Amino acid sequence: MQNIEQNLLIIRKKIERAALKSGRQASDIILVAVSKTVDMTMVQQARELGIDHFGENRVSELLGKREMLPDAKWHMIGRLQTNKVKDIVGQTCLIHSLDRWKLAEELDKRGEIEGIEVPVLLQVNIAGEVQKAGFAAEDIKQVLDSAGQFKKLKIYGLMTMAPLLADAEEARPVFKELSKLKHRFIDNRYSNVELKYLSMGMSQDYEVAIEEGANIVRVGSALFH
Ligand SMILES: *Cc1c(COP(=O)(O)O)cnc(C)c1O
Repeated sequence: MQNIEQNLLIIRKKIERAALKSGRQASDIILVAVSKTVDMTMVQQARELGIDHFGENRVSELLGKREMLPDAKWHMIGRLQTNKVKDIVGQTCLIHSLDRWKLAEELDKRGEIEGIEVPVLLQVNIAGEVQKAGFAAEDIKQVLDSAGQFKKLKIYGLMTMAPLLADAEEARPVFKELSKLKHRFIDNRYSNVELKYLSMGMSQDYEVAIEEGANIVRVGSALFH
């Protein structure tokens, strides 16, 4: 309890400082507590300390934890296989990891069957790392252009994972690039698109990400240790 509480105090302070630096307030930033490595006791503790948003990178884990804490907001942040689409639609407030067109089509189809909106972010592989999922930055325009064909899928922003680097400062250009991408398209009127979220920054670099415009940060180890 003590640890999470202390960690959270530090994280909130850093979020506030970074938000102010970029002309915003702490309340403009959504902290998603990434609970993928911890059990329900820890999740429960974080919840009691006022955390509303939790992130998981596996569907089964998310569903299990959500069942025990249904009033929290659950984010899917990991790679999503098409055969899991039927399980996840309707169970998550936001899917951060829409990384390919085929998955968009499957999510949309499922949304139609269930009669509910499917809110997603486009995962962008800014650094072009071969081992990472995501659309190339050059592909984003085409995805947004084509989003009008969806019935239930809604694109609410962009997500990226910066390469793991020795120094958080080294990730800054990646965050800058995603921010630029958002601003490039934000005034266009694409249907089914409202680019309001930038999900970027993890334990080691969330302050830099916020300085560059992130309004969702995904923090795991800095909170749960
Ligand atoms: C695990 C994970 C995080 C959190 O990573 P930490 O370094 O523990 O903060 C954030 N985003 C994604 C997509 C992850 O898989």
